[in-house]
Amino acid sequence: MTYLRLGSDTDLLAVRSDSRTMSDQYKCPICLTPMQQPAQQISGGEHIVCPRCGEYQITRRVKTVIQKQLESDHKARAVLSHAVRRMQEASPAPPLITDELANQLLQSGSLPSPAQQAENLILWLGGNLVAPGETVELDSRPLTAIIGAIDESGVEFILDHRVRVWVIWGHFRALGAGK
Ligand SMILES: [Zn+2]
Repeated sequence: MTYLRLGSDTDLLAVRSDSRTMSDQYKCPICLTPMQQPAQQISGGEHIVCPRCGEYQITRRVKTVIQKQLESDHKARAVLSHAVRRMQEASPAPPLITDELANQLLQSGSLPSPAQQAENLILWLGGNLVAPGETVELDSRPLTAIIGAIDESGVEFILDHRVRVWVIWGHFRALGAGK
């Protein structure tokens, strides 16, 4: 039998908080997608590189204030993940997600309609295809947040039912591409 002797209550707390951080580190605190690298600890929070939400910073307070809500609310996770992606499009610096901002985004944000999601996907394809006829790799994790789908199956739905080849070409022509 092994006995573990701990010097004080503080040591015990440190051990507990370390083991909790280790298991949380590899999942995005917003969308819960497994991450390839652990969160980087920064002053007051964490720097996250998530395959779905992208790169952002989050204060530790957000985790305590809204993480419970996010864990049980599939739609809230998608709303916040989409909002975080949009913020990265607007500015090159990774956005800092505070609890005030997260609450504001959750209250005012909503997911785009399927038609808007298809439009977002077409715009993304337009920005990522070098030339007509080129192929582009589709990773449904980032696309979920980029187009504003609820989850990866939502991306597949948009690809299957909304974005047909003729639609893409129709839009490319409308945008002046593919001539
Ligand atoms: Zn994420």
